[in-house]
Amino acid sequence: MNKSAQKLDVTPLVDESYCAAATQAIRCEATRLLTEGTVAAVIGYQAGRRKGTAMPTIVSSPEKAAELIFSSACVNNLALYLTKAKKEVRGKGRLAIVAKGCDMRALAGLIAESQVKRDELVIIGVACAGVYASGADRAAPLTNATIARKCRECVVHLPEGADLLAGSLPQQPMLTPLESQELARLEALTPAGRWAFWKEHFSRCVRCMACRQVCPFCYCEQCLCDRNRPQALESTPRPAGNMAWHIVRAMHLAGRCAGCAECERVCPMDIPLNLLNRKMAKELKELYGYEAGLQPQEKGPLAEYKDTDDQSFIK
Ligand code: SF4
Ligand code: SF4
Ligand code: SF4
Repeated sequence: MNKSAQKLDVTPLVDESYCAAATQAIRCEATRLLTEGTVAAVIGYQAGRRKGTAMPTIVSSPEKAAELIFSSACVNNLALYLTKAKKEVRGKGRLAIVAKGCDMRALAGLIAESQVKRDELVIIGVACAGVYASGADRAAPLTNATIARKCRECVVHLPEGADLLAGSLPQQPMLTPLESQELARLEALTPAGRWAFWKEHFSRCVRCMACRQVCPFCYCEQCLCDRNRPQALESTPRPAGNMAWHIVRAMHLAGRCAGCAECERVCPMDIPLNLLNRKMAKELKELYGYEAGLQPQEKGPLAEYKDTDDQSFIK
């Protein structure tokens, strides 16, 4: 590591005023919406039990709105709570939701898939400088060393299409795009080399299904992977079943994945799932000129036929 990189590692990327301004704006808007009865509840973040941590919350009264916060510890993609599968949340009525830029892309996807209607939502977008990487010390400042990999090359710091923008963006240095670099290294391998790369990673999968549970787009009431009459996929963590699960998962999410990297964040086995997500997204962009989560009214390329689609794979 060179000297300038070492210096960046300890330089805080945000200061307290950044979080305080966003928190204040979110609280004000949530209080107004709940007092006026515009929404029945607000999905946001509150402080966690340990110093510097945060966790999702749903507040239903103006008094509780004062508990809402925003900080670099607000890692969760709250769009997860808006699918039809989350009946206890959706049953509350019209909702407001706090959304970072990457969460907005998931919201756009869920609107496109008719999981939620745009007019049933008030979206409180938040200017986001970045969130902590999995395992980073939340009591320490957000730095080049503690920021999540997805945030190093974020292009949606300011969410588009929200009803309100909370906070403002501090000036930020350019960060090394580690994920893009790793993707380029992977693409330079032979097909056999890439297969070996994924085989090794997937061999560690313990099939805890945390990646599925946290994904806003894994909302099927019965996942194919849980079916046992007949059994579609081997459910124990063995190599063949693991590989099949990850191929099914990647194909099911192709053209839908919003790139929030929540699946990778929660994986207890440190499997680089977002690398696979990014590769799939890149293929879709090259083949169909499509990027998920940009246009709420658009169906994904795998859900729609066009005469202009690439047919070259049909031999
Ligand atoms: S990817 Fe962008 S919007 Fe999402 S958490 Fe990171 S910096 Fe914020
Ligand atoms: S979270 Fe990780 S270990 Fe668990 S099923 Fe997903 S890939 Fe496997
Ligand atoms: S597959 Fe992972 S990155 Fe994509 S939307 Fe689901 S949780 Fe987010």
